[in-house]
Amino acid sequence: MSAANKSALFQKLPSTDELLRQPDVQALIEREGHSAVAESIRAVLASLRQEIAGSQLDETSLDLALGGLTGAVERQLRESLRYSLLPLVNATGVILHTNLGRAPLAASALDHVRATAGAYSNLEFDLETGERGKRDVHVDRLFQKLLNADGVEAGLGAASGERRPAGISTIVVNNNAAAVLLALNSLAEGGEVIVSRGELVEIGGSFRIPDVMSKSNATLREVGTTNRTRVADYEHAINERTRLLLRVHRSNFKITGFTEQPSLDELVALARRRNLPLMEDLGSGALFDLRAVGIAGEPGVLDSLRAGVDVVTYSGDKLLGGPQAGLISGRADLVARMGGNSLFRALRVDKLTYAALEATLLAYVKRDHDAIPALRMMRLSKDEIARRAEKIVSSVACAQLKRLKLEMLDGESVIGGGAAPSAVLPTRLIALTHVDLSADDLSARLRANSPPVIARAEEGRVLIDLRTVFPEQDANLATALASLN
Ligand SMILES: *Cc1c(COP(=O)(O)O)cnc(C)c1O
Repeated sequence: MSAANKSALFQKLPSTDELLRQPDVQALIEREGHSAVAESIRAVLASLRQEIAGSQLDETSLDLALGGLTGAVERQLRESLRYSLLPLVNATGVILHTNLGRAPLAASALDHVRATAGAYSNLEFDLETGERGKRDVHVDRLFQKLLNADGVEAGLGAASGERRPAGISTIVVNNNAAAVLLALNSLAEGGEVIVSRGELVEIGGSFRIPDVMSKSNATLREVGTTNRTRVADYEHAINERTRLLLRVHRSNFKITGFTEQPSLDELVALARRRNLPLMEDLGSGALFDLRAVGIAGEPGVLDSLRAGVDVVTYSGDKLLGGPQAGLISGRADLVARMGGNSLFRALRVDKLTYAALEATLLAYVKRDHDAIPALRMMRLSKDEIARRAEKIVSSVACAQLKRLKLEMLDGESVIGGGAAPSAVLPTRLIALTHVDLSADDLSARLRANSPPVIARAEEGRVLIDLRTVFPEQDANLATALASLN
């Protein structure tokens, strides 16, 4: 196209101001504001200019584009004002999926966040004295009930008469990585921390115990070997610089074969004998008894405290099922040292977290475990899941399947989130295959759904696990599956 022709096309383009004066654009401005609309107009005009310059538009196609200009502006506006963080359907069966936001919050947690964060609150204000208060009281009082000997029996798996730890307090930081950092820095700065070589874990997202240790200004003293560490190895490594014994939960891997690890009781006895604190990074840290959902051998917070561990660290959004947070529970004198550390100020959490955590903990106090979505999902039986799967499959099959094929098969859901590495729950899966589309294509189509559906692709099939799908999402999911046909 000649330069003269192009220049004639450029002449046809309206100015931003002309477009802003059009009645349907005025309506957009009323809804979304002048500056966002003007920006969208500039973006649409710029792309038309680019297309003219690149000879992609002739007079006819430009006229066509100009006829739909306000529609294009509206689409551009919608695109630019769209949220990036979106709710989605987790059909992977991984309950605590780190990439999908780990634990969904309880309805009461959301209500409490809305009520307290949309207004002023007594976050750090003592309503009795009218003086400044401490933000930790809002959740520490509930942890007292859940973890202390003198608190109420909260049904955390402790048989009556069992030893319950006394004098436990809890503080909250941003996540468990921060909890470990704060605890190590408060208890062992300038000294040595003894850890088994078999527990020098990397959790992912570059949380590596040796790195956190060096950032905390404590020196890592590795003992034992990758597969075998005995309590004598810890004992031999203790010297006058030793400040802490550390046990790290192997939350995302398992060592099998010729292995040895001292029991918690042995470590507690050694720590007492040598007058050193023992800390355990539990990672997940269940506040309920996992045996109730058929998972054995995963220590809960209370198991560790009851065994005599002085300090435990764990996440708020893993097995606890609450907001992202790092919890430090333990001997009141040690936890007080952490609360007085200036690092604590840098790692503390905001009112949203306290509100969500307080409501989540209240559900535990009331033993209302089904109020917490992650716990409810863990407690779902295979039969319940199978019933929902059958309903979805038959509703999709009503639509006369031509190219899509649905089957049901047995499978396993995973707890995930660095919680209980070998813990799986029996489930019933919907397997999808398609005459023309590969499993990757099907997954991509499901991701493009609104809301996006995330599923597992395995052996040429797409697998849908309803354990992590909220029942109120089932109908929506069925529509998304039918659209693949
Ligand atoms: C998950 C995990 C962490 C990190 O916790 P975040 O809350 O993600 O920071 C640390 N240690 C262990 C053992 C874990 O499982």
